[in-house]
Amino acid sequence: MNKFKTILLIILFNGIVMSQNYDFEHSLYYNYEMFKEHSLQNRLFKHSDIVKLISNLKKNKIFEVNVAGKSVEGREIYLLSIGSGKKKIFLWSQMHGDEPTATMALFDIFNFFSDTINYQDIKRQILSNTKIYFMPMVNPDGAEVFNRRNALSIDLNRDANRLQTPEAKTLMSVFDSLKADFGFNLHDQNHRYTAGNTFKSAAISFLAPPINYEKQVDLVRLNAIKLIGSLFKMLSRYVPGHIAKYSDDYEPRAFGDTFQKKGTSTILVESGGWQNDPEKQFLRKLNFILLLSAIKQISENSFQNISEGIYESIPFNEEKLFDVVLRNLTMNKNGNKIKVDIGINFEEILTSDKKNLYRKASIEDIGDLSVFYGYTDVDLNGYELAEAKTYKEKSFSLKEIKSLSLTEIYNGGYTNLLAKNKFEDEFFDLPVNVIRNHKKELSTRFVIGAMPNFLIKKDGKVEYVVINGFLQRVSDNQDYIGNGVVIK
Ligand SMILES: [Zn+2]
Repeated sequence: MNKFKTILLIILFNGIVMSQNYDFEHSLYYNYEMFKEHSLQNRLFKHSDIVKLISNLKKNKIFEVNVAGKSVEGREIYLLSIGSGKKKIFLWSQMHGDEPTATMALFDIFNFFSDTINYQDIKRQILSNTKIYFMPMVNPDGAEVFNRRNALSIDLNRDANRLQTPEAKTLMSVFDSLKADFGFNLHDQNHRYTAGNTFKSAAISFLAPPINYEKQVDLVRLNAIKLIGSLFKMLSRYVPGHIAKYSDDYEPRAFGDTFQKKGTSTILVESGGWQNDPEKQFLRKLNFILLLSAIKQISENSFQNISEGIYESIPFNEEKLFDVVLRNLTMNKNGNKIKVDIGINFEEILTSDKKNLYRKASIEDIGDLSVFYGYTDVDLNGYELAEAKTYKEKSFSLKEIKSLSLTEIYNGGYTNLLAKNKFEDEFFDLPVNVIRNHKKELSTRFVIGAMPNFLIKKDGKVEYVVINGFLQRVSDNQDYIGNGVVIK
């Protein structure tokens, strides 16, 4: 080998090593705030919020903006594109209305490309090699009411074959017109999945959807598998052990599987759960980084040297998490004492004005939960469960509740109060529940499906209360991170 060839090889080798150091991604991780679209602050943004942002993007010549179709209720479904390269990349988000994390990240990505100062060389390289198409919020009617399904109650991701909904028709016709090289199918999954049999939440789960029941790997799917392998390596730097693989059962009615089969290397990205991140802002940031990384890697074809074994090694999603696990509590039933763990999950409920989400808890499991984990996971060995009651001596307004000593209420054995007339709130940020209909009794039975409201005692003294599933220590006035609910 002559000297020149050696040098060339070193340059090539360094090039590969460089790209696998993921320096670009690392820089994005620390500079993310520069690009974050701050008008999207939580998961409840609506179509009108993104319409405003898109009309601003129309003024920027680098974006081509078109209306690709309309939803059942007449909301526009937009297609934005950028770049002039040969390789086509298509990203679509929120075909399930209550899965908005990636939509927020797409608007961060639009800010990244709109910026005229930073990462100019990388952007030039990306935009000369690729043309990128974005369809944010495929299901705007669902987003309006924070619902998975569209206004006809149809799950769009089961309508890829029949194409009975205008949203699915729009997605399919854009797909057919593009014949993109790569597709990104952007969703949110249950935040209680773990990455394999661990206590680590699946922050991001990937899938290269199969093309048939045999889960055959053709060249189209192989590209998706390799790129996921590279994204897994890159993301593991930030969320090690928190990346999983989504179930790879073939679903012929789903878009991902259908697009892969039709020849576009398709990657499913599911944003899952992260401790203390209910609005998924950290997961949004991970989406921003992983999608830009994917775009860059496609533009330079640098994922091709990644072994498919990495994808195979990614653990599958497992259901090992509860929102709350309270362990080793003593339950006293007719003089019989037994030791139990209690698993509690929250359901998110949209208020009737559609402006807020609050949480309502239910008991999911009672017994030996030693193979499960909780986002909140507390050992209460030596403590005893006791039923809580409703305080019925008088009724309260919200203002009165706010000035009450809740410690006294708890020490009296109560977790629920009666509401005065005109109590319009559906929930509030206080550790107590309120019953609006005074004739209604809030069940304090300790059974599966019941709302977890109870006292936790030691030596006869109330040490903790559980209000709507949230554990609260009685002695110190710790900040309450949960919400009480109003029982109608
Ligand atoms: Zn989904």
